[in-house]
Amino acid sequence: MTEKYKESEKALKRAQKIIPGGVNSPVRAYKSVGGTPPFIAKGLGSKIFDVDGNEYIDYVLSWGPLILGHANPAVVDAAITAVKNGSSFGAPTEMEVEFAQEVLKHFPEMDMLRLVSSGTEASMTAIRLARGYTGRDKIVKFMGCYHGHVDSLLSDAGSGKATLSIPSTPGVTKTTAGDTITVPFNDLDALKEIFDEIRDQVAAVIVEPVPGNMGVIPPSSGFLEGIIELTKKAGSLTIFDEVMNGFRVDYKNGGGGSQTLFGLSPDITLLGKVIGGGFPLGAVAGKREIMENLAPSGGIYQAGTLSGNPVAVAAGMATLKELTRPGIFDGIVKKTDKLIEGLVSVAKDAGIPLWGARVGTMASIFFTEHPVKNFDDAKKADGERFKKYFHEMLKNGVYFAPSPFEALFLSSAHTDEDIDKTIETAEDVFKRL
Ligand SMILES: *Cc1c(COP(=O)(O)O)cnc(C)c1O
Repeated sequence: MTEKYKESEKALKRAQKIIPGGVNSPVRAYKSVGGTPPFIAKGLGSKIFDVDGNEYIDYVLSWGPLILGHANPAVVDAAITAVKNGSSFGAPTEMEVEFAQEVLKHFPEMDMLRLVSSGTEASMTAIRLARGYTGRDKIVKFMGCYHGHVDSLLSDAGSGKATLSIPSTPGVTKTTAGDTITVPFNDLDALKEIFDEIRDQVAAVIVEPVPGNMGVIPPSSGFLEGIIELTKKAGSLTIFDEVMNGFRVDYKNGGGGSQTLFGLSPDITLLGKVIGGGFPLGAVAGKREIMENLAPSGGIYQAGTLSGNPVAVAAGMATLKELTRPGIFDGIVKKTDKLIEGLVSVAKDAGIPLWGARVGTMASIFFTEHPVKNFDDAKKADGERFKKYFHEMLKNGVYFAPSPFEALFLSSAHTDEDIDKTIETAEDVFKRL
């Protein structure tokens, strides 16, 4: 027992009796770094506060969604106004239409959109849609990319799965697993081989264009283009899972994701995280001729009691409006840059090999001197060193994701002082690693 986390330790013990592992999503349990996860009492701006009264600069931001920081006044006001008017109707509202328009404005290659309640739900829907549309069964995914806990997409997934190293989870049937083919990220030749063998069976290739669930790994030049070309030729679909990328990698020119950043046109796009402004919201967007196959305009079934929830939509709308204010997105990008450059530089001074990656407002560091281009490279980074670093930073008030395979995120609420303090803390910690 440590005095510093006394209340959290008590809460965890209570939780473990009635919630599996004491948490409602695995990576929160700190399995890969050990120790007790702080139970969070409150968040404000760039900071979170735990039940023991410890304060942290938060670089997790609920795993990405909170691009304006905690309890942003515009988002809070929008959510309160919405909830006062009734929190759910299970009937269409005008706000959903406005919101769909707003999102699509930033994804000009997408024609239509369906709202769901999570990223997992979006990816589940997209897989069914791709299979229903093409009449084919096989899905190709990339090792280390995470698309939610959909049965067919858990093979070689990153995120919590990478942390817990569950090779293939029990509970997924052989038939389901057998319909998923995995290839290394950034390896177009491996993908070509799959298409050479079974091109007529592939319903879709699903990819995180800028993966963030094995740490942030920029796509090699030509890789994403190659995926689209191969699927087009084979009559299958490309699904860009932009649940994490959406409104995090590109906003400057009115663009909303990696597809606008790189100028690409996938068939289907998945969104989540930022678009809900911290509330449960996801979306499947796509080309009209594909999307119209969803019920009720088409025969592929998809539904949701809370889909398009008014409170989530209002919070999402307020978030996107705030983000478009001049300088907001750029400011976050600059601060993210400053943080990564600072960490790499103090690591170098301390003689610690560190690989830093950043795309837009997504970033990560790997304790390795080698470039990280795929999941295997990411796994070669020094996990023991990460653990020590993580706990030392946490003790000193800097809250990073408790896994070497997760991205770090900044918000418009992070100040230069936050970044300076983080770099100073890291400088001190690196000397002791
Ligand atoms: C977070 C994430 C998901 C899953 O979203 P949930 O809302 O957690 O279900 C899917 N894909 C990617 C790329 C993600 O980062």
